[in-house]
Amino acid sequence: MTRRKVAVLPDHIANKIAAGEVIQRPASVVKELLENALDAGATHLVVSVKDGGRAFIQVSDDGAGMDEADAVASFLRHATSKIASYEDLEAIRTFGFRGEALASIGAVAQVTMKTRRAEDEVAVTVQVEGGKQIRLTREAREVGTTLTVQNLFYNVPARRKFLKSNSTEFRHLEDEVQRVAISNPSVALHFVNDDETVFKLKAGTLADRLLDVFGQRKVESLIEVHEKSDLVDVRGFIGKPSFSQRTRQGQYLFLNNRYIVNRTVNHAIFSAYEHLMEKGSFPFYLLFLDIDPRRVDVNVHPSKLEAKFEDEQALYRIVASLSRRALAEAGAIPSLTMQEGPDANAPLRFTSRQHSWPTEKESPLWQFPEGGTFNGKTGEILPFTDRGGGAGIAARLFAPPAEESLFEGDPARRQALPSGLRPDAEGTTLIWQLHNKYILSQIKNGLLIVDQHVAHERILYERALDRFATSMRSTQQLLFPQTIQLSAADYALMTELLPHFDLLGFDIKPFGKGTLVIEGVPPDARSGKEGKIVEEVLALYKEYEQHAPTSVRDNLAKSYSCKSAVKAGDSLTEEEMRSLIDQLFATKMPYVCPHGRPIVVRISIDELDRRFGRTS
Ligand code: ADP
Ligand code: MG
Repeated sequence: MTRRKVAVLPDHIANKIAAGEVIQRPASVVKELLENALDAGATHLVVSVKDGGRAFIQVSDDGAGMDEADAVASFLRHATSKIASYEDLEAIRTFGFRGEALASIGAVAQVTMKTRRAEDEVAVTVQVEGGKQIRLTREAREVGTTLTVQNLFYNVPARRKFLKSNSTEFRHLEDEVQRVAISNPSVALHFVNDDETVFKLKAGTLADRLLDVFGQRKVESLIEVHEKSDLVDVRGFIGKPSFSQRTRQGQYLFLNNRYIVNRTVNHAIFSAYEHLMEKGSFPFYLLFLDIDPRRVDVNVHPSKLEAKFEDEQALYRIVASLSRRALAEAGAIPSLTMQEGPDANAPLRFTSRQHSWPTEKESPLWQFPEGGTFNGKTGEILPFTDRGGGAGIAARLFAPPAEESLFEGDPARRQALPSGLRPDAEGTTLIWQLHNKYILSQIKNGLLIVDQHVAHERILYERALDRFATSMRSTQQLLFPQTIQLSAADYALMTELLPHFDLLGFDIKPFGKGTLVIEGVPPDARSGKEGKIVEEVLALYKEYEQHAPTSVRDNLAKSYSCKSAVKAGDSLTEEEMRSLIDQLFATKMPYVCPHGRPIVVRISIDELDRRFGRTS
């Protein structure tokens, strides 16, 4: 056996290996170069790429620049100017300065650095190829630094093969530049691809920058959030559920102003949207976390894309509750925007909608008759227990939610009717039904349009979830129990689901051989065809189970609310409409149905005026 000697790897090989971790693709080069330029105090940046970055990447800045010795040294492994003394070692941990980027890039590409400090007459140009310095010259240049990276991975064929198509690599590049753009609005940024401008952003505020990057439509769908605690300062925006997207793009998290990916925060935000979006949709978010650098480790990932937080659970709780609150409070009403309106470019306010909540005395607007069922058709108030089986729509809309806290109990819930949505004068409010489908009502500064089916669905859905959560059931016993016959498979499924049906308020007895006897139903169930409801709910349950899997109870709540809600085509009395709207705004999420569709559309008088060419 030959004796092997321990050998230290030559630097240029070590760098090549290290480069594999730090530099995975052209976008990683751009990320590192941009970080360096920002660290050097740049206020103007130009990023130019060609062929998806594989042929050419250039970043020019107007930052501090370097003298000759530093320019040469900057390509050495572990060379960093950002740790001057031993005490500064803390900075490695806190900011992740490791002096690896330039050495890594220089090891796997042909790199030219041209740099000049304010106090020097001329710029110095250093050329590095495959980790070796090949040229040092002097030239003229403004103060600042230009790094040009050509033929990335020219000497690492395996890496080169691993790169994707130019358009895919370009998308990664664009993502990277966009993230820097978002987190540094005060820096002007020009991005060029194959000699064509992709975007050219002026320095400005965050609001300006977001408008430039995302456009007005997207920005209008954002809800501002902010929360400061001992642990973390969180600020930024989350998207209204109705503007959710089918891809994972549009999720921006910055830790101490550096882009990161973090599952905890991601889950926390998703949890807030749980019942607001269809499966397969993703919420938009853009959050800036400010955390004491000593309470987070940014060195757990080679390109610093992940971080480890000291108290991940606390972070989860903060972000989840912040998001939930923001969604509940923001008047996330999809309003009709007039695309061609003259105001399309009007500057945006970045404050969430200003609500003045109705006071205890003012609200709820449409008083629920106490302790009984109000029959909208006859004007009678029936004691709840006396309600007959044939009370129809009115009965379901007016059924007092037995264990309900919707109206009496929880004042926080009652606040949900924003003043802007309250009819302008109590009692005289105009309200009418359009095509037995939509409820139209005059509100303070415009018109409110409510989809009656999804509105009722939302009400019943939250009620059902409440019942599951509180285990307080209430049942309306049927005078004439109904029998239904199911297939063996359905019967088996039904037997499994019975405890949940029971909590919802159904009283169902299994009699074997596929036979079920329905003896009672929830007070808000569609009356008359109780047997049919159970079958329909079961059918829908199976459908959701296949196409939109969720928890058993959530699925059941969705299926039940969909099947028991008033339908498009049901004619409603005025009282029924009022009650529906009142109850809708007492829910947690009046604007989005359990499947993510909008419930309410608001058209402001201003918009109508503009439409009709009125300049008031
Ligand atoms: P790090 O950023 O971790 O210090 P790098 O390898 O990215 O390591 O950069 C090495 C050093 O080169 C930096 O510390 C900095 O002094 C210098 N440097 C790199 N890019 C620039 C730039 N655009 N302007 C001024 N100095 C730069
Ligand atoms: Mg760096």
